[in-house]
Amino acid sequence: MPYKAPVSDYAFLLKHVIGFDKVAATDRFTEATDDVVSAILTEAGKLCEEVMVPVQRAGDLHPAALENGVVCTSPGYKEAWAAIAEGGWTGISGDPEYGGMGLPMTVTTAVNEMMSAACLSLQLALLMTQGHIKVLEHHASDEIKELYLPKLMAGVWTGTMNLTEPQAGSDVGALTSRAEPNDDGSYAISGQKIYISWGDHDIADNICHLVLARMPGGMPGTKGISLFLVPKYLPDANGNPGVANTLKIVSLEHKMGLHGSPTCVMQYDGANGWLVGPAHGGMAAMFTMMNNARLGVGGQGIGVAEGAFQHAMAYALERKQGRSIHGNSIAAHADVRRMLMEMKAEIFAARCIALTNAVAVDMQTATEDKDWAARAAFLTPITKAFGTDVGINVANTGIQVHGGMGFVEEAGAAQYARDVRVTAIYEGTNGIQAMDLVARKMMDGGDAAAQLLDEIGAQAEQARGTHPELAEAVWQSSETLRETTEWMISQGDMDNRFAGAVPYLRAFARVLGAHFHLMAAVAEPGGPRETLARFYISRLLPEHTGLVQQAQSGADGLYAMSLDDLVSWWTARPRGCAISLAGPAGTRNHNLDGRPGGRVAVVDAPTAWTMWMSMGWMMGWRVDNRWYRLWLEQD
Ligand SMILES: Cc1cc2nc3c(=O)[nH]c(=O)nc-3n(C[C@H](O)[C@H](O)[C@H](O)COP(=O)(O)OP(=O)(O)OC[C@H]3O[C@@H](n4cnc5c(N)ncnc54)[C@H](O)[C@@H]3O)c2cc1C
Repeated sequence: MPYKAPVSDYAFLLKHVIGFDKVAATDRFTEATDDVVSAILTEAGKLCEEVMVPVQRAGDLHPAALENGVVCTSPGYKEAWAAIAEGGWTGISGDPEYGGMGLPMTVTTAVNEMMSAACLSLQLALLMTQGHIKVLEHHASDEIKELYLPKLMAGVWTGTMNLTEPQAGSDVGALTSRAEPNDDGSYAISGQKIYISWGDHDIADNICHLVLARMPGGMPGTKGISLFLVPKYLPDANGNPGVANTLKIVSLEHKMGLHGSPTCVMQYDGANGWLVGPAHGGMAAMFTMMNNARLGVGGQGIGVAEGAFQHAMAYALERKQGRSIHGNSIAAHADVRRMLMEMKAEIFAARCIALTNAVAVDMQTATEDKDWAARAAFLTPITKAFGTDVGINVANTGIQVHGGMGFVEEAGAAQYARDVRVTAIYEGTNGIQAMDLVARKMMDGGDAAAQLLDEIGAQAEQARGTHPELAEAVWQSSETLRETTEWMISQGDMDNRFAGAVPYLRAFARVLGAHFHLMAAVAEPGGPRETLARFYISRLLPEHTGLVQQAQSGADGLYAMSLDDLVSWWTARPRGCAISLAGPAGTRNHNLDGRPGGRVAVVDAPTAWTMWMSMGWMMGWRVDNRWYRLWLEQD
């Protein structure tokens, strides 16, 4: 079963579950009518199925390669990118003034998810470029916008984000790249950046790097960082790629997956760059891209999960092993059915969370209402971490469904698992997302969380009439989560919050997932979505009770064991050993030479082990007509 874009599922969710009608009713997005959205999703689905899926495997088998200082991409990528560019997909949510389609983020999220399922490596180039566009729209000067945005929107140039340095990963504030002012108002950027996705390639004419660096006078830490636009080729007087900038690709990373995406180590040697946003305000500007990208990376996880599910489903329908009254393929067996149901139910939950997040982003854009902004901000780490966890878990389960063939590369199930693994790491690791949720996103005293929980509770109350058992379970779970949220907020010691951050985020996602499943059940009584909701609420939602317990267990238990014990406790060997001999019980201990005293020799550890292994089992032996026992003592 080749990948089929889940266009009809989106249509259902937009209409019945995630409240897209609110977005379409705003002045900002009047053009996002049902017909337009449906046509866009159908077109994107076609591109995924016909153009991107065929190059997915080629990217895995023939990774991007660095040849003579230039990156050559995988076979078919150039042509596939040309089709993406021609469709205007990089500018899908971009400002129409610069050539974008101006569509809501909700539509972009759906499109990006499908493209991630079709070919994650190539989709990453798209996601980076879309984020780049958002940063320039919000923070660049008019001159930069006019020069760069039309090219980026048309996909003839692509964008990257350059934060990471060897000593500055999660701790971006530790970066040391420098920006020295030039006489003409530009800056000379110097430093090394690592792990830069699509840092170089041959699929477009120019590459625009957004680089974080410190200007003279920039304070240490994140507050002293500025953001610069550094193109690979400096635009000439006509805005076309001109002379090469002074930056180079040092090497490409050899990765466990995502082979089609070139991950570059980059060296900037006084490269020409232009300030984007205020001096020393680079982190805030970059956050525009990062928030966009976090929502997108959550979507990457969900997309890969969908691809892996469809792949596993096709195999399960074909493969025959054993007998069952339910059918003659492995899909008939209860445990395989459990795996397939879990995969489907998890994808549904994560997809609804991501789309609801995108609706909040759109409502924030359209209304500038602070409550929508708070909701978008609160949901972003959940979308990112839960969406990518679902991607990893579902891809892993997909391997299990395949049995031995899952472990064999030709079957294709393994690629999903290898490719998606990084999504929990980049764009802020999932652990750091969870910390963000319980710290920064709760600086409002828990208002954003409480509003969501109120809505979940109210919707469950409404559903009691038609689905009393499901509604009760969802209502109860929202109350449990409310208590946990209050516990989190009451913790002045941030270590207690951080220790429970990941289980708290997962519990929140579980409950949100149940809420959306319940909405689908109400909208489609008696249909397969109701059946899936019953499965999720009865089998997966109960996990939240264990998760909230973990969330509230505090930090003491994590720090109770010393690092020394963690490292060495059961792997430690005796550093030196005494071989002690003693006479039979009740007699005086003797040394080997017959003198009383017991301890006869101190030997080094290897000798002691050798003696123990060769004779310890004997428990004793005879010397001078006496029996002696042997044991080891730690020195
Ligand atoms: C394939 C790939 C593509 C990438 N693309 C880009 C890109 O395009 N641009 C870019 O700038 N970067 C990119 N990155 C870098 C990526 O964003 C970083 O790898 C990521 O931010 C983590 O940084 P690190 O690898 O240094 O890990 P570390 O920061 O060393 O983290 C190691 C572990 O410690 C944890 N940790 C660290 N600090 C804390 C803390 N304060 N509290 C709790 N836990 C903590 C982390 O969660 C993680 O589990 C990419 C990475 C990869 C692998």
